[in-house]
Amino acid sequence: MSSEPSFLTVPPGGTIGILGGGQLGRMTALAAARLGYQTHIYTPEENSPAAQVSARTTVAAYDDRDALAAFAQTVDVVTLEFENIPLDALAYLQSLIPLRPGPKALEIGQDRIFEKTFFGDFAATAPWRAVHGLADLTAALDALGTPAILKTCRLGYDGKGQFKIDRPEQAAEALSALGLPQQPAAGADSALAPAILEGFVAFEREVSVIVARAENGATAAYPVVENVHRHHILDTTTAPAAIDESLATEARRIATQAAERLGLIGLLAVELFVTKDAVLVNEMAPRPHNSGHWTMDGGLTDQFEQLVRAVCGLPLGDCQLHYPVVMKNLLGNDGDQWHSFLADPNARLHLYGKAQARAGRKMGHVNFIKTKG
Ligand code: AMP
Repeated sequence: MSSEPSFLTVPPGGTIGILGGGQLGRMTALAAARLGYQTHIYTPEENSPAAQVSARTTVAAYDDRDALAAFAQTVDVVTLEFENIPLDALAYLQSLIPLRPGPKALEIGQDRIFEKTFFGDFAATAPWRAVHGLADLTAALDALGTPAILKTCRLGYDGKGQFKIDRPEQAAEALSALGLPQQPAAGADSALAPAILEGFVAFEREVSVIVARAENGATAAYPVVENVHRHHILDTTTAPAAIDESLATEARRIATQAAERLGLIGLLAVELFVTKDAVLVNEMAPRPHNSGHWTMDGGLTDQFEQLVRAVCGLPLGDCQLHYPVVMKNLLGNDGDQWHSFLADPNARLHLYGKAQARAGRKMGHVNFIKTKG
């Protein structure tokens, strides 16, 4: 008998389950279809962007066990485009069907303290302290100085759940603004805190790296890209980032090592701050990432196809950048300018099929490609 480990392979023709119905699920479903897969979306949202392009959809709550069990019966493997799903729902699903990226990445990615502690073993991060209430916060402000950023540990995204503290007197106000208790809850687990205070990093740039890891341990990292945020939401990504090769190498090392230590199967996006001579990890997401949308038009394998390859046990694709790209997010009414983007020969337009263009809502993106000519 061979002692070779046996890895899960879902060949084209199989069905990929995707938790989450947003644009990341939509673009994963489109990439899956290109390789001959079907997708089944599981989301609480009616008429979601991903459901519009998938063969099947289950609309149900993430903790609906009957719906999860029925979903699991129709798919060969499950991945996700949205990581803030209750861990016990994920554990239940995992008892029924292979779930990728796997439990460790999801557990660590859902809590800023777990995340900072995890990265602290092999990478630099912003200095931070756990905050249970006002006494902790006051001590943390003393230790880290101002400005500093108070962040809720769970369910924060796009700058939500954050408060920049410029003066120590703002401590109580910052806790209230984030709905956090001034006094630690009675009987609270002292290892778990509802928030952290982070020292303010005077960064020169913000960058990110996306790495893919397959079940057999193979990894492939995309080039480092530079991200510019407006009002805490990603505005543009420039690929590649104009940073020193040594810093780019360090950023890619961190992302690759993180994926390995997590035993992740799929994609890991790591966001980092770049100072004059160092890179510091900000946060991670174990899924496709907005800062990877440039790959749809700038290289041979886009991040969504790479996710499909990784979770289905196919060989990972080439991550090289073939064309420099500036990706611009289209928020709110920005998508109304579709005509002018289509008229630009260097622009590639991607719209997400969302009916309502609320302010700040991601409606699509444009990849502006710098061709050689
Ligand atoms: P986050 O949700 O943690 O990614 O934070 C959103 C944005 O806030 C980041 O992309 C940064 O622009 C800014 N930010 C977050 N943490 C810090 C920090 N420790 N120092 C400086 N800026 C930060």
